[in-house]
Amino acid sequence: MKTDILGVGIDNLTLSESVDAGAALMDGEGFHYVVTPNPEFILAAKKNEEFRTVLNNADLALADGIGVVYAARILGRPLKGKVPGIDFAQGLLARMAQSGKSLFLLGAKPGVAELAAENLRRRYPGLQICGTHDGYFQEDAPVAEAVRASGADVLFVCLGAPKQELWMSRNGPSSGVKLAVGLGGSLDVFAGTVERAPESWQKAGMEWLYRLIREPSRFGRMARLPLILTDALAARLGGK
Ligand code: UDP
Repeated sequence: MKTDILGVGIDNLTLSESVDAGAALMDGEGFHYVVTPNPEFILAAKKNEEFRTVLNNADLALADGIGVVYAARILGRPLKGKVPGIDFAQGLLARMAQSGKSLFLLGAKPGVAELAAENLRRRYPGLQICGTHDGYFQEDAPVAEAVRASGADVLFVCLGAPKQELWMSRNGPSSGVKLAVGLGGSLDVFAGTVERAPESWQKAGMEWLYRLIREPSRFGRMARLPLILTDALAARLGGK
């Protein structure tokens, strides 16, 4: 049962429980997808019904960010903790390297997915990356067909939200993969073109601040994020 955070269902799992659940989906039959909602997703889903439905139909929805955890606490429905999408991806990569599952990387600017693939192959010996594609394409069908032709078991979709979630829901089944995961800017981090916050900042729940300092142009986007907390407070006081 998912925990309702302002209209978006979130799975109340630790990181290692999430990786176990993801691994079970990739070993199963049929198509499944994972979403990683952060406060921006939840605010956007309030106004975008299709996005909200796609998030709520996901097989796994992970609390990507401390803001979601705080909102859950304010709502009186605490979660076990945050599960950053990129940490989930790393757990899954280790499992894929062990089990011989193959991976396709979709998204980011031209050249980034290839660089990410090179780095990941070095970091996870045995990992099979069977294809890459940049995230700036016009038509979905040829991309889904490229994924199918690669024979990938797992697909990382890194197009930013809500594009990546809508893409997974519309094209995932025809791509032939068992599991698709929406992972935002993770390919930039794997490629080394964007640096992640140091671990001490991550542990302190300050990854967002580090990112803001490194990329001040995100200020406009981020300034709205405390709204999730006031929304949660209003919902709690309103008895929802
Ligand atoms: N992106 C893409 N296609 C698009 C728009 C964005 O591939 O049409 C990529 C972009 O290059 C970046 C990622 O999607 O690698 C989104 O990054 P962002 O930092 O916005 O995502 P977040 O990590 O905040 O979810």
